[in-house]
Amino acid sequence: MAGIIRRLDETVVNRIAAGEVIQRPANAVKEMIENCLDAKSSSIQVTVKDGGLKLLQIQDNGTGIRKEDMEIVCERFTTSKLQTFEDLSAIATYGFRGEALASISHVAHVTITTKTADAKCAYRANYSDGKLKGPPKPCAGNQGTQILVEDLFYNVSTRRKALKSPSDEYSRIVEVVSRYAIHNSGKSFSVKKQGETVADVRTLPNASVVDNIRGVFGNAVSRELIEVGCEDQKLAYKMKGYISNANYSVKKCIMVLFINHRLVESSALKKAIETVYAAYLPKNTHPFLYLSLEIASQNVDVNVHPTKHEVHFLHEDSVIESVQKHIESKLLGSNSSRTYFTQTLLPGLSVSGGTEVKSSSAAADSTERVYAHQMVRTDCRAQKLDAFLQPKEKPPPDAERAGPSSKEAASTTAQPDCAELDEAADADMLEALDQQEAEVSKGEGESGVGAHDVQRKRPRKEQQEEEEEEEEDLTAAATAKRRVIKLTSIKELRTETTENTHKGLQEMLQKHSFVGCVNPQWTLIQHHTKLYLLNTTKLSQELFYQILIYDFGNFGVLRLSTPAPLYDLAMLALDCEESGWTEEDGPKEGLAQYIVDFLKKKAEMLEDYFSMEIDQEGNLTGLPLLLDKYTPVMEGLPMFILRLATEVNWDDEKECFRDFSKECSMFYSIRKQYILEAEPGEEQGGEGNSWRWKVEHIIFKAFRTLFSPPKKFSEDGTVLQIANLPDLYKVFERC
Ligand code: ADP
Ligand code: MG
Repeated sequence: MAGIIRRLDETVVNRIAAGEVIQRPANAVKEMIENCLDAKSSSIQVTVKDGGLKLLQIQDNGTGIRKEDMEIVCERFTTSKLQTFEDLSAIATYGFRGEALASISHVAHVTITTKTADAKCAYRANYSDGKLKGPPKPCAGNQGTQILVEDLFYNVSTRRKALKSPSDEYSRIVEVVSRYAIHNSGKSFSVKKQGETVADVRTLPNASVVDNIRGVFGNAVSRELIEVGCEDQKLAYKMKGYISNANYSVKKCIMVLFINHRLVESSALKKAIETVYAAYLPKNTHPFLYLSLEIASQNVDVNVHPTKHEVHFLHEDSVIESVQKHIESKLLGSNSSRTYFTQTLLPGLSVSGGTEVKSSSAAADSTERVYAHQMVRTDCRAQKLDAFLQPKEKPPPDAERAGPSSKEAASTTAQPDCAELDEAADADMLEALDQQEAEVSKGEGESGVGAHDVQRKRPRKEQQEEEEEEEEDLTAAATAKRRVIKLTSIKELRTETTENTHKGLQEMLQKHSFVGCVNPQWTLIQHHTKLYLLNTTKLSQELFYQILIYDFGNFGVLRLSTPAPLYDLAMLALDCEESGWTEEDGPKEGLAQYIVDFLKKKAEMLEDYFSMEIDQEGNLTGLPLLLDKYTPVMEGLPMFILRLATEVNWDDEKECFRDFSKECSMFYSIRKQYILEAEPGEEQGGEGNSWRWKVEHIIFKAFRTLFSPPKKFSEDGTVLQIANLPDLYKVFERC
């Protein structure tokens, strides 16, 4: 039985057609935003109720609609933007078919309130099925247009049923608004639920594209963006945008694509770009992309789909290939620059971190939890391989060179090394004697660790407080040997150090895993999952400075085997270019003698406070023992002596102690220029004598317990973060 063919009712035809353009609330929003932008609006506000099914309201501040056009504005094929078919090839506006408003009005109740610049007042009109329901009524209103869409799909029950989740529809609306907001930086957008005061997305008129990406997609992506841009005359296209670098990845690719300022999707382009990223990102993760393509409008066919979603253009494959090449080059560039990328500001360690981290261990455990996927194989508590390679006892001193004091030295395990000095030019000047003669060593020999070391294992603060206690309680036998320093100047210098401590850095140094020395000046350590490059020179200088201030008046002595005449040292220094000596300064001999006489006058004080010994004849006989087993490199001694006379303010007590400690710590610090000269003989010196061994086992060991790194070290390049292991894993995972 043949069915009877009937002409469809016109309203049904319109409704079916409308359903093709407007499939869900987000489509309507997109169409209406495009209309706002066509009308040159700079502010677009979207309000939504029930995912847009109950209410959609779009308010703009654009040109408005003339009163006389209000009657036909919702009819199909009415547009102010296109007149002839030829115009289609040069279309510069979003809309051109006059289809959107008509479609919406066929499936919803539409109210338009609008005012042009010339009109005395605003007008409001209601529409149904594309028809004006009554004459526009004058009302109050600012320039611009407000389109109110109520009860979307009220007459298309199948469609309404298909859109089950208002929250899902709402997120699609937010997605559309935020993408247009990113693309239209300079214009402000907002989208919120009706009744809410706070918008879910809001962009400001003066915000940049990156600001808007940050606002919508967050900081994690916005700080990993690379700006891209290219154009090709032959292919008649231009592209610009921002793409995420290889540090960033997400589970699902985010591609915000605009072609000729229209939000579209292009699976071909997406696929081409993802292929590029596949080489950089971990498996199954994807990039963020915001790309704006402008293609000569005569080459674009926007008319392939009623929702104008899918755009095709001439030479599509060539354009895609060209874009792909550009993105690849940008990513490659960012990747190689990443190798050299260092952060002077440590993430998670704010400069004011001192106050934030209360109990370092607790903070580390709670806030810096290391998840399984971040696990690394080393831990500072775990043994390092060199524990197996290293002799258990410290290498024995070179018996031949040790001289008369060798017996004494051998009787304790805690003597400083002399072997390295044998390599140094001034080696024979120094015969290291140990704490037997320094008051600090008493009773600690059997522990195998110098008393010096033991005594300062406690945190500084505690120690200081204890000192205070000692003043009252002199029966505290164990610590009674330690001289209590009551000088205000020293107390002030100590407080300056403690108050300026970068707690985050301190904790990092306390818990680091030693990785290795790059050279005498630079050392690599690991903390949690991060790799840091540390300036050993600056850090060790600060370490010795702090030791000089904290152990002030309590040092052991490093005795020189042969007394070194200060005069000769001063002459050696003046012969150096570094001294800056010129003829005008007068004869070197006179200056050298002056230095000797001057330092002799200070000898008593230097010996008392700093264990720096100068005899009656003007010879240097002893230097302070600052760290167990550590002797400074003697090449630095002449300059140290000269600078004591020229760089220290001897007139002010506090300044004097500070300056002396600065000069002395510079002399003791691990410095490239001195150590490199001594290096060829390093092997013969044995492990215990190499600078590498000292850096790891003396200097960096001391950082674990004795050190209060100053805040500036996190900013001045002394501590550089060079890699984060999870990021490296991403690279290796692919191999
Ligand atoms: P098109 O955008 O394809 O021209 P629409 O149905 O989207 O068709 O809009 C029809 C007409 O309504 C537009 O050409 C324009 O003149 C007018 N119009 C719609 N929205 C606005 C608005 N927000 N501001 C000013 N005019 C508008
Ligand atoms: Mg339109």
